[in-house]
Amino acid sequence: MEIRFVKRDVLKEKPSDESKLGFGKYMTDYMFVMDWTKDEGWHDARIEPNAPIPLDPACVTLHYAQETFEGLKAYRTAEGKIQLFRPEMNAKRMINSNARLCMPEFPVDMFVEAVKAIVKCEEDWVPHAKDTSLYIRPFMFATEAALGVHMASAYKFIIICCPVGAYYPTGLDPVKIMVEDELVRAVKGGTGFTKCGGNYAGSILGQVKAEKMGYTQVLWLDGEERKYVEEVGTMNIMFKIAGEIYTAPIEGTVLPGVTRDSMIHLLRDWGYKVNETKLSVDDLMKAGHDGTLEEVFGTGTAAVISPVGELRYKDDVVTINDMKTGELTQKLYDTLTGIQWGRLEDKYGWTVPVE
Ligand SMILES: *Cc1c(COP(=O)(O)O)cnc(C)c1O
Repeated sequence: MEIRFVKRDVLKEKPSDESKLGFGKYMTDYMFVMDWTKDEGWHDARIEPNAPIPLDPACVTLHYAQETFEGLKAYRTAEGKIQLFRPEMNAKRMINSNARLCMPEFPVDMFVEAVKAIVKCEEDWVPHAKDTSLYIRPFMFATEAALGVHMASAYKFIIICCPVGAYYPTGLDPVKIMVEDELVRAVKGGTGFTKCGGNYAGSILGQVKAEKMGYTQVLWLDGEERKYVEEVGTMNIMFKIAGEIYTAPIEGTVLPGVTRDSMIHLLRDWGYKVNETKLSVDDLMKAGHDGTLEEVFGTGTAAVISPVGELRYKDDVVTINDMKTGELTQKLYDTLTGIQWGRLEDKYGWTVPVE
């Protein structure tokens, strides 16, 4: 793939305090852009200044939400090398998301090449402090201006990047989660397995409700019976009950997380039984009360792992592991972050160098 470079006149000032990077506050100087049209397919790959994009008010994305996205990170190792974590999984997932939304396929090799190119271009933006990283956000949307509902004839694929701070500056910190018993995120046959903006638009109300009750996140139940646990806001979720691990199966309503998949690999390697099966919220709360619910944790690229210390379902509340981070949760976090930042040997071949 040939990538055109459009230079910016003045580079931005990089944030000097890496302890205050936050998430998504600072965008880097450049972005990767490529266009798709019905006649030409993907064309004009370029790295150009990160700047506002002019959009026609009739742009179909603004009306019918034909948008998909991905999220991954670039990590700086102690030796100063930069590496990605399983980027081809993000590429494949985006292909599946796009197929569901009738959007064009962006090939896996082009995706990985584009990610490497923009990260290489922005390597000085990859922060150095412990547990910081460069967050990479590839996304695609329809650009055609026409109000009819249809598969659009023009799309843009863009990658923007932002340096992000340590998610847990003072160590893993258990959160309180509320089970949503009324609103739903996904149903079979819908778009639950895709990473698309529309899924999020429909989930914010649940998040607002949870926050009003003093909870950080929502645990969604299945859309048909409101009976089985599926996932948390932006994370998959796993439960350790009587020594075994339970997590929702990937059957169309749950997002197939890269972190979820990696954790399952590690857990099975360590001899744990991982059950990718439906778990009812009643059985979950029961385990919480009879003392067999040992650990609960969310998994996702942003936080890696998020220990859950409290679960609320209607008026029923259970505390998990005395609101403390569990031993297995900590071990998973240490191992996965160890591989991602190059502190531990990557025997799975998950990391991909940016050279
Ligand atoms: C992105 C996302 C996840 C986590 O996926 P990772 O690949 O592990 O980052 C989980 N659930 C939802 C709804 C998501 O959008």
